[in-house]
Amino acid sequence: MTDQRTAGRFKQVRRSRALLLAAFRAHPGPIAWGLVGSLLYGTSLVAWSVALGVLCNDVVIPRFDDGHVATGTVLAVLVAVAAVGVVQGSAGLIRRWTLVVTRARFDATLRDAVVRRYHQLPMTYHQAHSTGQKLAHVTTDAEAAAELPARLPDVLGMLVLFVVTVGWVVVVDPVLALVGGMMIPALLLVNSVYQKQVEVPAEAVQERLGRVTEVAHESFDGAALVKTLGRDRVERDRFAAEAAGLRDAKIRLAVREWMLDSLVESIPTVTSLVIVIVGAFRVNSGAITVGALVSFVNVFAMLVVPVRTIGNVLGDVPRMLAGYTRVQAVLDEPLPPATADPQPLPDGPLDVRVQDLSFAYPGGAAALSGVSFHVPAGATVAITGGTGSGKSTLLLALTGLVPPAGGTVLLNGADLSRISPADRVAAVAAAFQEPFLFAGSLAGNVLLDFDASVSASASDSAAADPRLDEALRLARATALVDGQPNGADTPVGERGVTLSGGERQRIALARALAHRPRLLLLDEATSAVDATTRQEIMSGLATGLTSTTTIVVTTSAATLALADAVVYLQQGRVAGIGSHADLLRIDGYDRLIRAYERERVQA
Ligand code: ATP
Ligand code: MG
Repeated sequence: MTDQRTAGRFKQVRRSRALLLAAFRAHPGPIAWGLVGSLLYGTSLVAWSVALGVLCNDVVIPRFDDGHVATGTVLAVLVAVAAVGVVQGSAGLIRRWTLVVTRARFDATLRDAVVRRYHQLPMTYHQAHSTGQKLAHVTTDAEAAAELPARLPDVLGMLVLFVVTVGWVVVVDPVLALVGGMMIPALLLVNSVYQKQVEVPAEAVQERLGRVTEVAHESFDGAALVKTLGRDRVERDRFAAEAAGLRDAKIRLAVREWMLDSLVESIPTVTSLVIVIVGAFRVNSGAITVGALVSFVNVFAMLVVPVRTIGNVLGDVPRMLAGYTRVQAVLDEPLPPATADPQPLPDGPLDVRVQDLSFAYPGGAAALSGVSFHVPAGATVAITGGTGSGKSTLLLALTGLVPPAGGTVLLNGADLSRISPADRVAAVAAAFQEPFLFAGSLAGNVLLDFDASVSASASDSAAADPRLDEALRLARATALVDGQPNGADTPVGERGVTLSGGERQRIALARALAHRPRLLLLDEATSAVDATTRQEIMSGLATGLTSTTTIVVTTSAATLALADAVVYLQQGRVAGIGSHADLLRIDGYDRLIRAYERERVQA
């Protein structure tokens, strides 16, 4: 048990060191300035006590004893006191300013690093982690982690103040130093209790903060569903329960911190009292002057500041480390292996050969097994099958975004997993059933260039970009865009809320087409578009994109009939390959397509 605790402490020290090193490497300037400010502040606190002693010895006592004091002495002491005050004020400003700057900058650094990592991580990571969880890492966790380096200079400065004060007292009066020194073990003891008592509630607060973000995000994201199913109340209650949990955890932590704070603060106060009593005897016996005693009492009372600072930071370390650990976990997520010995993608229309492809989701059963088929360059192949048969998984594997468990995909003979990501992205484009639109303009969404404004000027890149018109025409979205109040410059709202499902799908399809891909992958990308328009789009693609190889997941009989060949999947395996007409002879296929068509008529 003790060994476990010691190991835990070592782990904390190691993690703190890693965090501080990372922060210092990223922002040495503000941290170094913070240290200067804090040291100056600490020194000025001691100087203030010394000045008070001098004031007492050279001004106040002579005034009482002799009835007069030299004006020069008064002036000199007053100037010294004022100077100390100015230094203290300026140092205090530097301390606070650098704390704010370090915190804000390191928070931003961590946030950027996490977001960059999110972009590099494979699809499987994003499928396994909720958006709310990921949001919490870039908000509350990064903020908590940035606190430690921001407050470090203060802790170091105050530690120096502590040592200097104790040293000074030892030199002037070892007896009083001994009395004052008794507070050190008391402080160590209370701080160690503090750490232990606060650790668990602090981690609980950090974890609950993450959960509240997660639940809030989930319920806002599913707002329409929540409303239509009349689950508002349930969702409200679910959020209220999480929020109440967070509130209680915060109160528990605050009460514990406050009780321990009072205990920590009382130690220097009690010590000052003891020093007054013992010091009175020392003054009486002539061992020290009254001024020295005044300085000591003042300096010990002032030790409340460093003691509280150090205690507060130590008490908060578990929460800050909890945030850092969660951030670090994202940064430590393994990246997909870099493409070893990347192969160039041969030019020209792409011939796609899928050989014995298999795929399984983490912890799940096989979603694809032994899938093989061939799509000649420029041809259109449709993939169909019942729900859960592996159609979307197959398309995802063809994007190269998820590594297959076995088998290969060859593009013009080159292994997809060995093609450089840049070449792959340039050649392959996909559009899915659930289109994602950014909150920018229609043109911005198609060209993925949100600075573009079509109407701003004729020389503008978007206005001059022929890809936009061509892509909109092929996606049968020209009239839809022209009908918008500001044409292609019309903003579409968050996730494209101002458009219908079919309209969103056509804009997402136009985006994939604007890419001028050599391999176009469509996963039920026109499922929400009416049958006539869908037919126009599919035949338009067949005649207009002769050099593009197209693989389309569909259950529409008309689209299947247009395809050069159909791959029929059943439970992740190929159950038939051929023309739609040929496959209709397979009983299962015929029934499936008929059932889908009936469904569409009823809808
Ligand atoms: P649908 O017609 O309903 O879109 P589909 O043919 O596209 O179905 P896939 O989405 O490829 O089917 O799913 C194939 C199998 O993999 C299913 O059993 C599904 O439950 C499983 N699956 C899909 N996505 C995931 C995931 N992210 N994690 C785990 N399993 C998944
Ligand atoms: Mg699917």
